[in-house]
Amino acid sequence: MRFTIAIDGPAAAGKGTISKAVAAHYGFAHLDTGLLYRAVGAATLDGKDPIEAALTLVPKDLERDDLRSAQVAQAASRVAVIGEVRAALLDFQHAFARRDGGAVLDGRDIGTVICPNAEAKLFVTASAQVRAQRRYAELSSKGADVSLEQVLADVKERDARDSERAEAPMKPAEDSTTIDTSDLGIEEAIAKAVKAIEARLSARDR
Ligand code: C5P
Repeated sequence: MRFTIAIDGPAAAGKGTISKAVAAHYGFAHLDTGLLYRAVGAATLDGKDPIEAALTLVPKDLERDDLRSAQVAQAASRVAVIGEVRAALLDFQHAFARRDGGAVLDGRDIGTVICPNAEAKLFVTASAQVRAQRRYAELSSKGADVSLEQVLADVKERDARDSERAEAPMKPAEDSTTIDTSDLGIEEAIAKAVKAIEARLSARDR
């Protein structure tokens, strides 16, 4: 069966957690598309040209252990404004989305640009304050020396760059269901996501 679930939203809204849970629930494969941009961003921090890095990206590049750092996140959002970088990453994402057995892709432009025909689309969001608190807890538990103010400023800067860029800006697809996780626990957020997807599945089968 081919069934694509597109999950978009800003950083630290919970889309990674929801995507993994939804993929496990349906037995679908999952692609965190942010990792593609992070791998290209990390390559630029090593002095590489972003377009060249995107054109020559191989799956092993997604295994670098520094991809989750705050510096790489910022570098990712800087390379993500470059049209040629986005174009170079298209084929990989399209092939993944239409694989047999179903796929969940999460990112910023999955429901709008990469998979406009996805059978189910979610936009997972939360307030900037809540997202910064979550990211701060995650980074400080890993021993990173950061302040909540700095993390909040980073979150807002990345939101602005991702939603104001000309190429594939972050925004909810018209036919997506928005889930605001600001006041939701993980299980509640996952339950809402599954419920929204079930509605799309049964609409398709009708
Ligand atoms: O989701 P994550 O925080 O890992 O994404 C890192 C950056 O990659 C984002 O801030 C965004 O600029 C970019 N990105 C994108 N399109 C996607 C996924 C990520 O532009 N589909």
